[in-house]
Amino acid sequence: MNIFEGALLHLKKASKHLKLSGSLFLQLQKPQRTIQLNIPLRKDDGQIEMIRGYRVQYNNWLGPYKGGLRFHSDVDMDEVKALSFWMMIKNALVEVPFGGGKGGLEIDPKNLSEKELERVSRNFADVLAPNIGPQIDVPAPDINTNSKIMDWMADQFKGRPNYLATFTGKSVGNGGSKGREEATGLGGFIVLEKLIEKLKFKKSLDFAADRPTVAIQGFGNVGSNMAKILDQNGYKVVAVSDIKGGIYNAERKGFNIDLVRKCKLEKGLLAGCYCIGSVCDSAKKIDEGIISNEELLQLDVDILIPAALENVITNKNADKVKAKVVFEMANGPVSADADEILNKNGILVVPDVLANSGGVTVSYFEWYQNMKDQRWSLEKVKMELKKRMENAFEAIWKIHQNQNVSLRIAAYILALQRLKEKSKY
Ligand code: NAD
Repeated sequence: MNIFEGALLHLKKASKHLKLSGSLFLQLQKPQRTIQLNIPLRKDDGQIEMIRGYRVQYNNWLGPYKGGLRFHSDVDMDEVKALSFWMMIKNALVEVPFGGGKGGLEIDPKNLSEKELERVSRNFADVLAPNIGPQIDVPAPDINTNSKIMDWMADQFKGRPNYLATFTGKSVGNGGSKGREEATGLGGFIVLEKLIEKLKFKKSLDFAADRPTVAIQGFGNVGSNMAKILDQNGYKVVAVSDIKGGIYNAERKGFNIDLVRKCKLEKGLLAGCYCIGSVCDSAKKIDEGIISNEELLQLDVDILIPAALENVITNKNADKVKAKVVFEMANGPVSADADEILNKNGILVVPDVLANSGGVTVSYFEWYQNMKDQRWSLEKVKMELKKRMENAFEAIWKIHQNQNVSLRIAAYILALQRLKEKSKY
């Protein structure tokens, strides 16, 4: 089963609960449009390489397509289809007036010079131009893309009406919203706090005292911001990792994430950070201070946060997960069959479509500010984000409780109800 087929399984399950009509299900199980592109990259030595690109415009019943652009050598059509499908669900949950879209470039940007990266990003925007725009399709950053890349892309549209609103996730000095950089992590934190409130009330999960322990896989935009916010709010972040591996604090005191972030910036990888300042005092080795990504997923912690790639918890390792809660900050980190194993083992899974929807919520605020020529304060952004995340959580929790379904199926039920209302056919 490929990743897109796995994503559709949840649609099928939720449709059954909703008794969704066959015709609606048929329409939602296929993207409205898939676009494959060929993007020229001029290397610094003057040679041209052609790079494969994708944009999937899954569904626009709720508004213009919206979703990130990923630069990664493993990007393919099935992955982009799954990611755009999840965007459709996510946008419905946080009630932003957008449909689902996603795109990607089959490239490893770490092999490019800064100039090469800029050229291929600008070319990608040019080739995409007939298919995107503020009222058509609004891309944003994802894995290996950031505000600098969004700024270059937006610059290619200069002179068109509302050109800044063509992309979100831009730098604040270039029409970006305050708070967008940390929005996905902060949105996740807001949901996690609500969840813990409910669980404590129900006394259904026995968290470690008042300071739950957390392990986070992935230390990019999402993982590192989430780690920082959790550390600042009294959670004990005892393990973090990036693509090369990670560090584990066996004494379970929790890392000082500011120090870890500083070290990662200096060294370029987390595995080199097990012995930095106070990190060294509290870091205890699993194997010479370095923990593998697979070991991180199996740690005995309260909360496990996959915040890197999809399909990291599969039927091969799901039985080894010891965390009480799996909180999906990455898109699709738990495969469909692993999801069933975790549920069976009594592990609460908070689905990606809810957990990481803070990013697109603030992207919507950015788009809105660009369209209306407004500048919101950071306080306003945070307040509006909190409102939307808490509303989505409460509505999903209610369905989860009343219909005795997993949080994931509850989220899908809610999204499908909203899509059904706007169904055109
Ligand atoms: P990023 O490029 O900033 O960071 C990715 C991190 O994952 C890096 O630390 C990288 O080293 C690590 N990583 C990559 N491959 C890995 C592997 N095989 N094993 C372990 N770690 C690995 O990307 P990001 O924006 O933080 O996105 C992370 C996840 O969150 C993705 O699934 C993305 O789709 C999702 N997401 C991102 C946003 C956003 O606003 N950026 C919003 C919603 C969801």
